[in-house]
Amino acid sequence: MHCADAVTCTPGLVGGILLVAALAAVHAAEDSWMFDAHSHSARGLDLERVIARMDAAGVGKIVLFARRQGTDEEVLGLHAKHPGRVVPAVGFQNPGWLQQSARFVDEVEGKLASGRFRWMGELLLRHYGVPELRAPDYDIPPDSELLGKVLALSARYGVPLTIHHEAEPGDIEAFRRALRQAPQALVVWAHWCGRATPEDARRFLGEFANLHCDLGASHPGRRYGREKNPLVDEAERLQPAWRALIMAFPDRFLAAVDAVDPAHYDHYEAWVKGLRRVIAQLPPEVRGKLAFENAERLLGKWKGGSPGAK
Ligand SMILES: [Zn+2]
Repeated sequence: MHCADAVTCTPGLVGGILLVAALAAVHAAEDSWMFDAHSHSARGLDLERVIARMDAAGVGKIVLFARRQGTDEEVLGLHAKHPGRVVPAVGFQNPGWLQQSARFVDEVEGKLASGRFRWMGELLLRHYGVPELRAPDYDIPPDSELLGKVLALSARYGVPLTIHHEAEPGDIEAFRRALRQAPQALVVWAHWCGRATPEDARRFLGEFANLHCDLGASHPGRRYGREKNPLVDEAERLQPAWRALIMAFPDRFLAAVDAVDPAHYDHYEAWVKGLRRVIAQLPPEVRGKLAFENAERLLGKWKGGSPGAK
């Protein structure tokens, strides 16, 4: 019997079983590996519980943004205990950013220079109030001088920056001008490109090669996910225009859960399952990109804590 390799060489039933086993392994790898590129820590959250929820949900890695008096140091502490699981981020949901303090941006740079942080966010620009989370309205204009400085830091250190900015007429053009100032910045536009229309999202992704979008809070069980230009319908079917956009830019979308407050981690497993069902509607070669490869590639852009002279 002539045979090209071990699997095809193995006769009949045994070969079939081996092939099925190999395919199952590939399938299991897709199913079990997910990189949650956007969730949060907060005061009152037992961070070890985050790891337990990740284990239950089959999430390998998470980016944690401190908010609501959660601290970057706590996230670093969790990273020290679980270095392969937790990506330490410099948090922006604090008075330093929200009150546009120049000193805060200096502190951000100090943290990036320390070489201990690998992501930044969630930086809020236009943000609708979320009563159920007691989160107020914010309207920090995209032409904020401090945003320009943070974008420059992202470019200089090769550290991704997750931005929450609702795409709205007017503001979206100001956002475009800000991105044009720093085309090397690694921007992740949270919530499927700021819940833009798929047409606007397409124009932005076409113009900015370093722009990515995450899928955080898209689950149909969350009001936020249904409110504006939803990614999926009530039955979790990926909307055709978004599917077409992901297929046109398969390297630019990141899986993300967006667990915001401690109670959200009760739903973490269900939300991850929903996200997997959405990603499963894409061709096999695209699923792994969204589930983890794109986020890993972004992490790989890191230039270290001392990327040369300013
Ligand atoms: Zn957000």
